[in-house]
Amino acid sequence: MKRLLGAAIYIFCCGLFTQAQKVTRLEAGDKGLHPSLIEFSSTNAPVFKKGNVVIVNNNDLKSSVSANTILLNADTDDLGFEHYRYQQILNGIPIENAIYILHIKTGKVLSENGRWIKNIPLNSIRIPGIAEADALKIALKKVNAQHYKWEDNEENTPAKATTEDESITLYPKAKLVYYASEDDATALHLAYKFDIYAKEPLSRQLIYIDAQTGAVLSTKELIETIDTEGKASTVYNGIQTVKTTLNNRVYSLKETTRGNGIITLNLQNRTVYTTAVDFTDADNNWNNVNAVKDQYATDAHWGAEKTYDFYLQNFKRNSIDNKGFALKSYVHYNKNYFNAFWDGSVMTYGDGNAFYGNKPLTALDICGHEITHGLTSYTADLNYGKESGALNEGFSDIFGTAIEWFARPVKKDWLIGSDFYTLRSMSNPNAYNQPDTYKGIYWYTGNNDNGGVHTNSGVLNYWFYLLSNGGNGTNDKAFSFKVTGIGMQKAQAIAYRTLVTYLVPTSVYKDARIYSIKSAEDLFGKGSNEVSQTIKAWDAVGVTENVTGIVYATNVPHVNAGIAEEVKVKKLYPNPTQNYLIIEFTDNKPGTRNAAIYDISGKLIYDRYIKTVQGNNRLQINLPSLVDGTYVLKVDNVHSGIFSVKH
Ligand SMILES: [Zn+2]
Repeated sequence: MKRLLGAAIYIFCCGLFTQAQKVTRLEAGDKGLHPSLIEFSSTNAPVFKKGNVVIVNNNDLKSSVSANTILLNADTDDLGFEHYRYQQILNGIPIENAIYILHIKTGKVLSENGRWIKNIPLNSIRIPGIAEADALKIALKKVNAQHYKWEDNEENTPAKATTEDESITLYPKAKLVYYASEDDATALHLAYKFDIYAKEPLSRQLIYIDAQTGAVLSTKELIETIDTEGKASTVYNGIQTVKTTLNNRVYSLKETTRGNGIITLNLQNRTVYTTAVDFTDADNNWNNVNAVKDQYATDAHWGAEKTYDFYLQNFKRNSIDNKGFALKSYVHYNKNYFNAFWDGSVMTYGDGNAFYGNKPLTALDICGHEITHGLTSYTADLNYGKESGALNEGFSDIFGTAIEWFARPVKKDWLIGSDFYTLRSMSNPNAYNQPDTYKGIYWYTGNNDNGGVHTNSGVLNYWFYLLSNGGNGTNDKAFSFKVTGIGMQKAQAIAYRTLVTYLVPTSVYKDARIYSIKSAEDLFGKGSNEVSQTIKAWDAVGVTENVTGIVYATNVPHVNAGIAEEVKVKKLYPNPTQNYLIIEFTDNKPGTRNAAIYDISGKLIYDRYIKTVQGNNRLQINLPSLVDGTYVLKVDNVHSGIFSVKH
């Protein structure tokens, strides 16, 4: 109601009278706009009247006064000028981006500049055709964030936002404005203007929704960051180009050009993720060699970028979920931590320890390996135990290696982790105590490492190596084989299709055989050479047509790079227990370890840091109140034993 009254006052103000002013300079405005700059002769300048903007025609210099204005701000400068910044209005409704600034001295308008629409249609629609709530839905769909700022504050519910507190709530409340399209200043659309603050991924945008049609007229990002190209002197990958962000004159290892972003953060040897800070650089030339090894951060950042590029360029996949999932890496996790892991949403890299040469684990194949665990969780979601867990690990090694070949062809190999310390070999699994034959030498049947997931992955790794590279020999089942390699490109396409299109959480080796043959048929045709080499490679690793596997039906979090256990738990007692647990274990070095207890569904129940000494250790954990059942103890994310609680 107020708004309509206001409109009645304003409508007749424009063009009521004309004055003769001497214009000394005039820069014509674009089509439909008044001049972008006008200067008046100081002796014959118009008298300033608050609220009035002097309008001068581009052609005949005739002037008039517009009072259809809102004062946005006013200030004074050292030269004695006053500057009044006005916004144009119509029907009492502001016109976006129609701003004129008047420069006043001793009560006279000496110059004006800005963007002001002439001949505004007075009969413009002033009542919205769609409801604000519907417009908001359209705007939120446009932003498409997982998490919004106002959701942090339970007070800011939609119901609350309609009360008097609306001016302080962050829940989006529309302003009604006219929005002129960029190319035609006179085409005014009545629009809802929303200010939407999203936390994940981070953005704060002004969004204009046409109040008649619901069309998204425009969006404007308010968080001013600029993606730039930085030069990174990486440790493992030589000099590479990375995308970084310039914000407040500081560059950081963040970028928004790939999916919803690639972000690399510094945990500063802590383990609490909320304390992580940016890696920063003053000149975007990243050569930050220092005592805390910040030079390794660009390896992780570049590795995540290249992993993104690999999946996009080869499989048109937009990040691990194909929806742009932001890839976050945390570097400098804990102290003396020789491992890397994907925890279901982010990558984490330790700095290594003296025993393994003090090298952070930010190698390219490890980046690819960890991020591929994320992709697996969005696709096959292979359970992380026994054979399905071995497949999960194997696919991470396959794509970790494929990514290394893709991004770093000058320094590629079939080894995993060779940049800092070789963990596994795909071309010769036996060299690192992994089987190259299904249920052959080194095949693991115990319960450690989730049923030997980092061991029995050797069979899938070797299958992929043979399929890609070719090879011949005799396997542990005395079967002689000869496989002709089809090359990395074709082999990775078969592996990708197997993982993304066919495998399910409980899949085992025999399923991988069936589905990869099906994938090869899809891609290259039945009876093709690619299909026959796929079959030969499976026969070579002992996964023949009639094998059966062990289905692992539960899933557990924390997928690590499979570092050999440094902590060996010897005894866990009493078992069953009620309220405490004694752990006797050995450690190969003194340090800080994380002891964690999970329930059988994989949910973290309890964790704490423990100080260890080299050799024998004995530790008592006072348990929180636990319901009867079976629990898993992990030390530094490695499965270390099972115990039960019974009251
Ligand atoms: Zn892994």
